[in-house]
Amino acid sequence: MLWKGRRQSDNIEDDRSDSGGGGLGGGGGQFRLPIGGRTGGGGSIFLVILVVLAGWYFGFDPSTILGGGDGGLLPGGGGQITDNSGQDGGTAPANDEMKQFVATVLAETEDTWTGIFKSQGLTYEDPKLVLFSGQVRSACGFASAAAGPFYCPGDHKVYLDMTFFQQLDQQFGASGEFARAYVIAHEIGHHVQNLTGIMSKFNQMRQSMGEVEANQMSVRIELQADCFAGVWAHYTGQKGILEQGDIESALNAAKQIGDDTLQKKMQGYVVPESFNHGTSQQRQTWLARGYKSGKLSDCNTLSGPI
Ligand SMILES: [Zn+2]
Repeated sequence: MLWKGRRQSDNIEDDRSDSGGGGLGGGGGQFRLPIGGRTGGGGSIFLVILVVLAGWYFGFDPSTILGGGDGGLLPGGGGQITDNSGQDGGTAPANDEMKQFVATVLAETEDTWTGIFKSQGLTYEDPKLVLFSGQVRSACGFASAAAGPFYCPGDHKVYLDMTFFQQLDQQFGASGEFARAYVIAHEIGHHVQNLTGIMSKFNQMRQSMGEVEANQMSVRIELQADCFAGVWAHYTGQKGILEQGDIESALNAAKQIGDDTLQKKMQGYVVPESFNHGTSQQRQTWLARGYKSGKLSDCNTLSGPI
């Protein structure tokens, strides 16, 4: 992606330096992503993850992968997950070039969605993007970087620990700049769902649903965010700033983080009832569909077959 020299968004909140200190009632450090062995603990380190509405994050639900309970998926649910990533990237160095990249992609999403909303007679409201390191407090509760990037509908902010990009590359096999852009665009897709009322409708419906049904609905919401990311990529392509291989790297990322692929990788088998983001094929299909036409009307994942 030819992003250098383009506008960078002002809507970045850089909380990387003060995360870990923040008011967990007694030593926030214990909740820090303990890469580097700060808390010791032998090979397997447990993290407490307190995420409300964590179903909105981009990646996967660790409790599903690990066969755990509901920690991480249900509102108010807390639970323990294992940091089994084995990543060795250190704790979020202040990578200015990466920050500039994120700010530029965010600016591109602002421009694209402002235009799309305007064409529908609507006003797009720019979300904030919070860069954090290890853990963060949002209107949706506390979140650990282990949960991956996420969007919090309560405060209209996307939360991103950029070490996830390393994980994406090294652990999930999804490399490339545009794979990272897709991550951001997917979260912005959730913001669009929030602004257009899709998300609150889903949350309402979800209250009367059982777990399996709620997962199925979650998949539809996630696939739509993928499709919206594709719509964004479509308009970005029209600006002539995509490079050869960009779309392929986003599609590969969609494949690598599909529920089935992740589950196979992490636990060796798949549990389709627990899918909440969509299979590799579904995620690729909807990303590609949005990219191809650039039309929101092609992103109706909420009814019909997916
Ligand atoms: Zn998502």
